[in-house]
Amino acid sequence: MKRVYNFSAGPAVLPESVLKKVQEELLSYQGSGMSVMELSHRSSLFQSIIDDAEALLRELMEIPSNYKVLFLQGGASLQFSMVPMNLGKQKAAYVNTGSWSKKAISEAKKIKGLEIEEIASAAETNFTTVPTVPMVSQDMDYLHITTNNTIEGTTFFVPPAAGKVPLVADMSSNILSSQYTVSDFGLIYAGAQKNIGPAGLTIVIIREDLIGLNETSSAMLDYKIQADNHSLYNTPPTFSIYVAKLVFEWLKDLGGVAKMEKMNRKKAELLYSTIDASSLYASPVEKSARSLTNIPFITGKSELDKQFIEEAEAAGFLNLKGHRSVGGMRASLYNAFPFEGVQALVAFMQAFEEKVRG
Ligand code: PLP
Repeated sequence: MKRVYNFSAGPAVLPESVLKKVQEELLSYQGSGMSVMELSHRSSLFQSIIDDAEALLRELMEIPSNYKVLFLQGGASLQFSMVPMNLGKQKAAYVNTGSWSKKAISEAKKIKGLEIEEIASAAETNFTTVPTVPMVSQDMDYLHITTNNTIEGTTFFVPPAAGKVPLVADMSSNILSSQYTVSDFGLIYAGAQKNIGPAGLTIVIIREDLIGLNETSSAMLDYKIQADNHSLYNTPPTFSIYVAKLVFEWLKDLGGVAKMEKMNRKKAELLYSTIDASSLYASPVEKSARSLTNIPFITGKSELDKQFIEEAEAAGFLNLKGHRSVGGMRASLYNAFPFEGVQALVAFMQAFEEKVRG
């Protein structure tokens, strides 16, 4: 069976060995005669899956014991509302680094009685870098950042200092692909569909003292209720949690996040160096903020971009079209994307450049 090189920003490529394992176990999970999709979420078989998934994630990210790990639904987008509903008392600070942080800000502004202050923005550079974040006023309920900006291709490799104010991070597009210290954050959230597993699962890692601060009007949107029920308040996305567990095992066997980051650097450097050495392609992103996972590049001519994308697709390089707000191309190189795929893309880019330059 032919697999393509899938550069999608999400849902994204999964490790082939994980997909094969899923296939092997699809009809009968561990001799049960049932698919994981058919297991009760209250069964001991599923309990072991979710327990293992949590233990593996704790190990991979070195999550301290005073943090809870929640397996939720609603995507990262629902966290745009859950964070201010649960953590916001009076005033919260946000850093605007592009499309997703703007959405987080706009949802937070809908929470009644909560004032939102944008304390830093990358708008002046048209979101081609991340801003210097001033020390947040210590009376803020929290400071929100997006560690990796999936659309613009920029990253906070070092999170801003926030003093005593809990730092909240949307880590959707670089969780487990770069190393972060969990204790630098009060809360981390991520949609699973890039570096973790199938869509439908959202991971929240929350420091215990931030749980139960507010009464929320909905049980499903209350971190305390979710934590007290060990993510089983209602039926969780069982299949996605199972695949996430397999991805965590794969990552652990591979050497963990430090090793993965090294591999991701190698992939990203090959692509950035090709872009920088070329007279056809350019990266719109400032070097110090360049993402390892989402790499936009442009030719500067929309008809050439279009031709590139069409010819790339015909050659088996899929989903390279850039986001409409940036244009051009974007290669998303998440954990499961192979180095050989970047080598193949780079060879294709060079051949295309030679052809159009004559
Ligand atoms: N935040 C970031 C940084 C993202 O990249 C995305 C999706 O691509 C989202 C939030 C929205 O995630 P979801 O579709 O899981 O709601």
